[in-house]
Formats: sequence, structure tokens, C-alpha cells
Amino acid sequence: MKELILNDGHKIPIIGFGTYKSKKQGGIESVVAALANGYRLIDTAAKYKNEKAVGQGIKLSGVPREKIVVTTKLWRENLGYEKAKTAFGASLNKLGLEYIDLYLIHWPANARNYKNWQKTNADTWRAMEELQAQGKIKSIGVSNFWQEHLEALFQTANVMPVINQIEFHPGYWQPELTEFCKKQGIVVESWSPLARGQVFGNELLESIANKHNKSVAQICLRWVIQHKVVVIPKSTTPKRIEENIDVFDFELSAKEMEQINALPEMGFSGELPDIWPDKV
Ligand code: NDP
Repeated sequence: MKELILNDGHKIPIIGFGTYKSKKQGGIESVVAALANGYRLIDTAAKYKNEKAVGQGIKLSGVPREKIVVTTKLWRENLGYEKAKTAFGASLNKLGLEYIDLYLIHWPANARNYKNWQKTNADTWRAMEELQAQGKIKSIGVSNFWQEHLEALFQTANVMPVINQIEFHPGYWQPELTEFCKKQGIVVESWSPLARGQVFGNELLESIANKHNKSVAQICLRWVIQHKVVVIPKSTTPKRIEENIDVFDFELSAKEMEQINALPEMGFSGELPDIWPDKV
């Protein structure tokens, strides 16, 4: 398994496993299947309401805890110093773990929802820095942060975020934000790498897949990792779980990378950090 090195020295597998909408027994089984197929990075979030299932899957897998990078995220209603600490404790409990490898702010506080969004993010980050210093979290990072949210955070942060997890797939890959993060030493991690299924049926992706004798899903995942971006496809289908990690025996050419980069917008989720669909 290929890995990237984070700016705090910890390593992260370049392919991990997503669990959004994988709940209860299906969630447990998918995590067990992922770990049996060689995934060593598991992505969950308090918001997914599946931390208990993910924790059970990890235990049942028999893979030693220290071999697995477990990510969970702080939901936006729990931003702020005290709330972040309480929410982190709840996540740790549900997962049934002693520590979390990677804890992310799921969405930044923003100008539309907070009078002083900069302070809310800064206070949240301070809580995460303290939890890290206590050994309860190995690495801390963010998700869905734009450049303006990152630059504001840099003003007060003592620890740089290691990762920014953002929407990144053919047809919507935020190249400027990705470039900015890389320049700052922040690893980009792709969510919805298959645009939740909306990449399928695209002619260019199908023709590249045929050429390499691979699936469209494998082409998308390979394209992400060739950008040196971590990818976390989700599936509850055993065959697809196996297929999605089988992307290390071929390479996209520079021309194919460019062609995929240049695809017109498709599959955008519509989710933006400055417009939350509800109050929190
Ligand atoms: P994905 O782009 O990973 O797509 C998942 C969908 O694609 C599922 O319906 C799955 O079906 C299907 N699928 C998976 N593999 C294949 C395949 N090989 N062939 C055909 N279909 C396939 O979407 P997600 O939104 O789940 O993103 C991945 C992960 O990123 C999430 O699970 C979550 O962990 C994280 N995430 C983070 C966000 C954030 O705000 N930070 C936001 C959204 C996601 P099936 O399961 O039925 O096989």
C-alpha cells in the first residue's frame, strides 16, 4: 500500500475506505471486508451515526489497532472549544477506541452562520491541539475549508492542519484549492471520488477504462492518487470494495490525466462551506 507522509510525520495510506451511509450491520460488514482486502485507512464522522458500527468492524476484523488509521470528524453543531472536547469524547466512546488517528473539523464556521467565524474555528482548533497534546489524537486536520478559512486558521494555530478533505472527482476537483493546500504542506483528501455514482456513463472515462482493461471506478481512483491526493471510496458491495483498491497495477499517461482534468463540470454535490443548508 502506497502512503503519503503528513506534515506532522505520521503516514497515511493513499487509499482508504469511506463509510457515509454505511450503517448498522451493513456498516460493520463493509469495514470488516475493507480491512480484509487491505485497506488500512477508515473514514467515518459523528454525522454519519455509524461510529459504533465502524468501531465494531475494526475489532471484528482482527487487524491490530495500530495498523489502522481511523478518521472521524467533528460535526458543525459542535464547533467551539468546550463543545469540540465533549463531541470528541463521544466519538471516541462510540468507536470504542483509546485514540483517534485523524480528527477533522467537518465544515468550517463561516461568515453566514457565525458573527465571528474566525474565532469559532480558532477555538475549536485549540481544543483539538490540546487533545492531540494529551495523546488522544495523533493528527489533526480539516475538511471543506476554502483558502480563506485556512488562512484565518493559520493566524492562531500552533499546529498546522495535516489534511484538508474536500470534494474531488472528475468533473469537480478544485484545482486552485488543491494547489494552495499542497504549497502549505497540507495533504488533500478526496471525498466522493466517484461523485456518488455520477461519473459512470461518461464517454471519456469509459474509453480510458477500456484501454487499460479497468473499470471507470478504478480510472477515477487512479486519477485521484496520481494527483498525490488521498482517496476514500465508499462501498458496501464486497466485489466493489475489492475492485476499488486494485489500482496499483497500471498508470494513466500524462495525456489521460490532462483529459480527465479538463472534463466539464459533472457530479458536483452542491455542498459549499459558505452555504450550510440548515442553521448549523
Ligand atoms: P463515492 O464517490 O465514494 O461513491 C459511493 C457510491 O458509489 C456508492 O453508491 C457505491 O455503491 C458506489 N460505488 C462504489 N464503488 C463502486 C464501483 N467500483 N462501481 C460502481 N459503483 C461503486 O461517494 P461518498 O459520498 O460515499 O464519498 C466517499 C467517502 O468520503 C464517504 O463515504 C465519506 O467517508 C467521505 N465523505 C466526506 C464528506 C465531507 O464532507 N468531508 C462528504 C462526503 C463524503 P455501493 O455502496 O452500493 O457499492
